[in-house]
Amino acid sequence: MDLYEYQGKQYFSRYGIPVSPGGVADTVDEAVSVADDVGYPVVVKAQVKVGGRGKAGGIQLAQDPQEVRRHAGDILGMDIKGHVVHRLWIERASDIAQEYYASFTLDRSAKKYLCMVSAMGGVDIEEVADSDPAAIARRHVDPVDGFSAESASELVAEAGLHEGAREQAASLLQKLYTCYVEGDCDLAEINPLIYTTDGRVHALDAKVTLDDNARFRHADWEEFSATETTDPRERLAKEKGLQYVGLDGFVGIIANGAGLAMSTCDVVEQVGGKPANFLDIGGGANAAQMANALEVINSDENVRSILINIFGGITRGEEVANGIVEAMGRVQIASPIVIRLDGTNAEEGRRILADHAAEGLESVPTMIEAARRATALAKEHRP
Ligand code: GDP
Ligand code: MN
Repeated sequence: MDLYEYQGKQYFSRYGIPVSPGGVADTVDEAVSVADDVGYPVVVKAQVKVGGRGKAGGIQLAQDPQEVRRHAGDILGMDIKGHVVHRLWIERASDIAQEYYASFTLDRSAKKYLCMVSAMGGVDIEEVADSDPAAIARRHVDPVDGFSAESASELVAEAGLHEGAREQAASLLQKLYTCYVEGDCDLAEINPLIYTTDGRVHALDAKVTLDDNARFRHADWEEFSATETTDPRERLAKEKGLQYVGLDGFVGIIANGAGLAMSTCDVVEQVGGKPANFLDIGGGANAAQMANALEVINSDENVRSILINIFGGITRGEEVANGIVEAMGRVQIASPIVIRLDGTNAEEGRRILADHAAEGLESVPTMIEAARRATALAKEHRP
């Protein structure tokens, strides 16, 4: 689960990581009243879960209430890379001497945490990694050993942070590590981490991804879940426990296994279609799961056809076929369905499906043909 910047900063605060004082606002009037409380000058910041807000015009300095009013009006409703701004974070503006970068993440291939620090913060860190990889100091951290004060000091020196910033930055890194581990983050990133003109080091931005597998031990994450997704399809899918990502195409996709679901999306693109979603119904693919999946896809008004791609392994073909037939009885499906069923007992499964051909259910033996058929049907059904 990704957090908004303001939530990330609240999370950081719990672990003693310094951030600027501020508050959230959902309207222009609220923005002005928060700014009045915080004290001028302030920064008006778009709250969307996407980077590069600054470049898109979603971050503006304001000297007085009139400027807050103007910027808040401009930023609310702004579309930043497909994310519409509904909320602002207003914080006291900082006088920046230098912008750094600091993060903890998991390096799965090394089976260790990875800490990265750079004196070249503020900009896209991927760009720095490409153009000047030596500008990023890295250290793997063994979770058993933890992250020592020595490691923190070495890293900030290696990264070339200003002498006057190093001690505070090293102490902040240790707090960030505690936040990362105890707070069960997948990613805790500060870009920029700033050194102010009056010699303080603090987090000016926050990018935090929480590890959903740790949700059971964080009752306090409820408040973050509540603001998590505004896509009604994704909300419904989440309620049903499905691995679903909404996309903006017109061919609904159901597959068993994340890899198969991804390749199904690719194949649909390849034959000129556009996937409306990614949906992995998992290994079981029983009737209840299939009904849930169909219900979610059916709720998407852009869907013109549905492609079900199942490779039977432990799940047998006839079970899957019965599941689909049963699911169709439960949910009134608006779009034609194309199914490619292969693997264990596929023949038997296809025989069951053949009996339901009249109900808008077509069985096609290969993935590419199924994608072509689903795409063609979708184009026929476009209003
Ligand atoms: P992002 O573009 O989405 O990563 O948003 P950030 O929160 O990182 O802000 C982008 C840039 O805005 C920062 O790198 C700063 O240069 C600038 N900025 C943000 N807050 C302040 C502030 O308080 N004072 C000043 N002078 N600049 C700021
Ligand atoms: Mn940033």
